Amino acid sequence: MEIRFKTFSNYLKEIFKERVFRVTVDAGFTCPNRDGTKGIQGCIYCYSGSEYNPEKRQKGIREQIEEGIERARKRYKADKFLVYFQAYTNTYAPIEKLKKIYDEIKNFPEVVGIIVGTRPDAVSYEVLKLINSYTENYLVWIEYGLESPHFKSLQWMNRGHGFSDFLNAFNLTRKFPSINICVHIILGLPVETREEMLETADILAALKIDGVKIHPLHVIKGTPLEKLYLNYPFSLMKEEEYVDLVVDFIERLHPDTVVQRITGEAPSELLIAPSWCSQNSKNRLINRIRERFIERDTYQGKNCKFC
Ligand code: SF4
Repeated sequence: MEIRFKTFSNYLKEIFKERVFRVTVDAGFTCPNRDGTKGIQGCIYCYSGSEYNPEKRQKGIREQIEEGIERARKRYKADKFLVYFQAYTNTYAPIEKLKKIYDEIKNFPEVVGIIVGTRPDAVSYEVLKLINSYTENYLVWIEYGLESPHFKSLQWMNRGHGFSDFLNAFNLTRKFPSINICVHIILGLPVETREEMLETADILAALKIDGVKIHPLHVIKGTPLEKLYLNYPFSLMKEEEYVDLVVDFIERLHPDTVVQRITGEAPSELLIAPSWCSQNSKNRLINRIRERFIERDTYQGKNCKFC
């Protein structure tokens, strides 16, 4: 099927001339929104800092990379990999410790890039300088959990930071032009109107962000969001509503932004709602969004205000 937006896999293929796979690593970090620095409850939707496999944490970083590479080699016959430091806040440690952790990638000649996931209020010039040092030999992305630029939404999610923290992190990161910036966005927050959600796309277009990961709000067992949802039920998006919203959202992005994700999903045993956000529905949802672009005969950037 023809794809009407810039996917991460196509972007990687353009650079490396072959398919490249992500190997996710849990390096044992914590998070300022959990250790008491910013808060102790964490974000309203957070389940184990986005890592569904708690056993991973018990293993060493090198072992996790080895196993991830091995799995992807067998499954996809892959030869090139990006190491994705995903769980919790992957810049939240002293520089020497961070360097030791990131340097693990140097043990693997088949690793061609590094992705560091973090919060916008957990970076500094020094940390970014360290991350930038990898750009000489690796493709480097930093992922900021922004989730929404709207303050009421950040408060509702208990993110513990404002949009200004993100803008500060963005400006600091732009001092290192070889670091690519991706942001995570959640659509379907009950405190946002559809127009506000689309304004988020306009803001990302105005910033000419390098990449975006779009997730639908979903409720996972054991999170504060589960309690809220069960005690005070609020409406979650329907699948077709989300599909059209994502198409509208991508239409308003800059055409050069890499759309790295258009779904968010959880294992069915952990998912409370909506059911279309289960891991089993992921491929169906991706295909539905791709089809919708074709049905509407539209494409990324069609309604970009800042192009
Ligand atoms: S910043 Fe990330 S790890 Fe920390 S509480 Fe929020 S979602 Fe969880």
